[in-house]
Amino acid sequence: MELDKMDENDWKYHGEGNKSLVVSHVQHSRVLRLLKYPSEDAENTHQTTEQAFQHILNIVDYTRNVMKPLLGEKYVHSGEVVKLPLDFVRQLSLKIQQERPELRCDKVMDTFSGCGLCLPNLTHLSPCHFGDRRPPLCVEIKPKCGFLPFSRHVTKECKRKVCRFCMHQHFKLANGKWNRLSRYCPLDLFSGSKQRMYIAIKNLLEEPQNNLKIFKGGELIYSCKEDAKQQPDLNELVQHLWPYFHHGNGHQSSRTVLSEFIQVICSALLSSGDSNRSGEQRKMQLAESRVLCEASPLHRDLLRNGSPGLPKDCVLAKILQAQMMDNLDIEGLYPLYKRVEQYLEEFPKERNRLQIDGPYDASFLEKVKTCPPEDDGSIEYAVGKVLQYRVAMTAKDCSIMITFAPCGEDEKLQPHLEIQPTKSRFSFSVSILDLDPKPYESIPNQYKLDSKIVNYYLKSTNATQ
Ligand code: ATP
Ligand code: ZN
Ligand code: MG
Ligand code: MG
Repeated sequence: MELDKMDENDWKYHGEGNKSLVVSHVQHSRVLRLLKYPSEDAENTHQTTEQAFQHILNIVDYTRNVMKPLLGEKYVHSGEVVKLPLDFVRQLSLKIQQERPELRCDKVMDTFSGCGLCLPNLTHLSPCHFGDRRPPLCVEIKPKCGFLPFSRHVTKECKRKVCRFCMHQHFKLANGKWNRLSRYCPLDLFSGSKQRMYIAIKNLLEEPQNNLKIFKGGELIYSCKEDAKQQPDLNELVQHLWPYFHHGNGHQSSRTVLSEFIQVICSALLSSGDSNRSGEQRKMQLAESRVLCEASPLHRDLLRNGSPGLPKDCVLAKILQAQMMDNLDIEGLYPLYKRVEQYLEEFPKERNRLQIDGPYDASFLEKVKTCPPEDDGSIEYAVGKVLQYRVAMTAKDCSIMITFAPCGEDEKLQPHLEIQPTKSRFSFSVSILDLDPKPYESIPNQYKLDSKIVNYYLKSTNATQ
């Protein structure tokens, strides 16, 4: 990519989240991730170029030096900061404006700094798969928090029984964020039980909200509808999937196509990132009480089967491990945050040494890893826990990209299909994206939000309990 010869016609709108907007190159397998601002802030408080540059540099450093070592080299791509011509960024912003979903237009793309993040396009598969004309499929899942809090600081009993995602659903419904409750429960996805995972993914397909997107050949083909009242069309999805899951001879029902598709996703989530490895693997096992959410529609029936746990190196285990660095819960963490605040008030210069706002380097990771196990009353303990909490927040908010394409030899391998559909027919890659640092300053908001969600849940479900 030649930065001085950037042409907006080489790029197209790809997607966006709350913090950034992504465009993809029409030929090369690259994306540009650009920051967004609340539109009312755009004119008066926009960051200086220097600040924007530092912000993106922080994202890269944090992803590369903190999250990548924790989540595994093979899953994380940190990308690089690029300085783009302002003219290009402005033209690009105009060009893509009409393709942006309305619910995201409360923010505008940063057209002032010219700073962006260049990443591989994870909806494509590399290295190229030869011998097959079917474009790769990519499933993006934002799994959210996969365990129940186990901290003794938790004051509300319901937090030990119902997971955060399921409680949050009620709050979001009441606030008009969504029109229907999702039946997805992260604890089912992280259970390692094929049956529970299957149902979790099925529930995501039925109500994707912002937790599921599907791409084909890099194009978004399935996600929540722009009009939140409408449900996305599963039949349309089946039409897209059919060419990947028909086996030459018989007629495949929609149910079979979807079921095979879900099984491929499950296998990718449980694999060690390397599609050829096999054999007995070590498992990550949590106490039974932490992995069952009472709000999930199915836990009672599947309880009998116990929970098999996750293979230790699979992407879900890696993410769950990082999420569980939040082992005090926000209720136990908040007093430590206040200890840090008080200390910084007294010794403001210590902020740098304690790396509260970075730099996100090896010594930051060291602080995260070597935090004392028990509270010895020190500032080091408080800071260590705060940093661990922030790592966990990032892991609770990231997305998994599973990209797969037929190997091109499926006709030959057909006898195996029924038994192990993924191993014989698809090559795939699994990555984790959206690993931005969560600001230290957001901790008080997290504390308030937690109590709002829990109180609302108690209030709204009391009648039926
Ligand atoms: P959130 O609101 O979830 O925090 P965000 O604003 O931080 O989101 P991202 O999740 O990084 O933004 O990116 C927005 C979307 O762009 C993603 O959901 C994904 O669909 C797409 N995307 C981001 N990075 C890539 C990539 N490297 N390759 C392909 N698609 C990507
Ligand atoms: Zn749940
Ligand atoms: Mg995201
Ligand atoms: Mg994000």
